[in-house]
Amino acid sequence: MTKIAFIGLGNMGGGMAANQAKAGHAVAAFDLSAEALERAGAAGCTPVGSVAEAVKDAEVVITMLPAGPHVLKVYSEQIIGAAPTSALLLDCSTIDVETARKVAGLARDAGYAFADAPVSGGTAAAEAGTLAFMVGCDERDFGRVEAALEPMSRITIRAGDHGAGQAAKICNNMLLGISMMGTCEAIALAEKLGLDPERFFEIASKSSGQCWSVSSYYPWPGPVPAAPSNRDYQGGFATAMMLKDLKLAQDAAAKSGASTPLGAQAEAMYALFDRLGYGGRDFSAMLQLLRGRLSELET
Ligand code: NAD
Repeated sequence: MTKIAFIGLGNMGGGMAANQAKAGHAVAAFDLSAEALERAGAAGCTPVGSVAEAVKDAEVVITMLPAGPHVLKVYSEQIIGAAPTSALLLDCSTIDVETARKVAGLARDAGYAFADAPVSGGTAAAEAGTLAFMVGCDERDFGRVEAALEPMSRITIRAGDHGAGQAAKICNNMLLGISMMGTCEAIALAEKLGLDPERFFEIASKSSGQCWSVSSYYPWPGPVPAAPSNRDYQGGFATAMMLKDLKLAQDAAAKSGASTPLGAQAEAMYALFDRLGYGGRDFSAMLQLLRGRLSELET
């Protein structure tokens, strides 16, 4: 049994903390939301009243927070110095590479082992304990990191040193944003040409257009029953979240000098979709914008 402090019990963190408790660990859980704390309590964690209380005798600290500023504030003001220096610190939020490296530096200077360990998989995988983790950490710490993440994971891959986990996450999601846009455009064109989008799925999923957005997340209802397209694009991966990740990718591209014109285009399209009021819809609902059929999205 390991003493785990879990900070951030939202859509993702709630299921992740529950899986740590299910694995027999003692999970001291904290969130600013009373409702999230109550859910964590019902899932076998011990709700506590502050970050300091959660981390005071922790062996592992896991954070799952919205964005970079939250992560920097919670680590610099509430975790570093309050947790025992023997604790392993794991940030699973999706944030910018620069902030991840800054937090890693603060942790290292104070004597902690730290890893950025963002996830791929969404809320269903968070609940099922089947997330993919991409990790940036010192090589010597990876064994400990992998063991600590095990109850929440399907696979854990070390991307490289600090910040590399976030770099992998940002690049992966930029590729996903672009491939989803391409999939939606192809379906919209197929429909205009009189080709049944379900028949197009049969062909594209077995041809060179095959990709995750086609085979596992088809934006047209029917061919992939588990895809959000079958439930009016509710749940899944919100457009606002995809937009956040595409912005992180564009910021990183600007700072590093990388050329990412398709990523820029995807960001502009998702920003438009968000501005039109669809930030809460699954990102595959972009299909309805490209078809000129936003009215088909129930409000
Ligand atoms: P969420 O908004 O549901 O949860 C974040 C939680 O953090 C909230 O409950 C909030 O109250 C809490 N919080 C904020 N500031 C806090 C503080 N100072 N102290 C304690 N708690 C605090 O978000 P989410 O969907 O769980 O996403 C979390 C992270 O995971 C984000 O970085 C997101 O990009 C990433 N992510 C999300 C998904 C997804 O499908 N939702 C998939 C992969 C990665």
